[in-house]
Amino acid sequence: MDCLFCKIINGEIPSKKVYEDDMVYAFHDISPIAPVHFLVIPKEHISSAAGITSENSAVVAHIFEVIAKLAEEMKLDKGFRVITNCGDDAGQTVHHIHFHVVAGKQLGWSSEQGD
Ligand code: AMP
Ligand code: ZN
Repeated sequence: MDCLFCKIINGEIPSKKVYEDDMVYAFHDISPIAPVHFLVIPKEHISSAAGITSENSAVVAHIFEVIAKLAEEMKLDKGFRVITNCGDDAGQTVHHIHFHVVAGKQLGWSSEQGD
């Protein structure tokens, strides 16, 4: 499958790893929008939040457990934001579900991107 994030998971495309286990992979975003900006993705290819079903939803709970653990380790005690863009209107550019974790500055909120 011609999927950028599947290629990152299998090592065909290099990335800066933050965390990995049997279900998920986390890596630094190539063009960060804040001092801390990494992505957490399931190893199983799911195209977007619209593709979550009762069969595959357990990985989403696991992703949030991983995010909480990483936030503690990274001492993001002042706060962080988790974002998943789904579909064209949300600006999703990579069609393998991913959760942005953004932190390290005061984040605003707008209909554009919450920036
Ligand atoms: P989205 O716009 O929500 O689909 O987010 C896709 C994200 O993937 C963007 O924030 C990109 O900067 C990021 N991205 C694209 N290619 C790479 C890459 N090779 N390594 C790390 N992050 C990437
Ligand atoms: Zn994929």
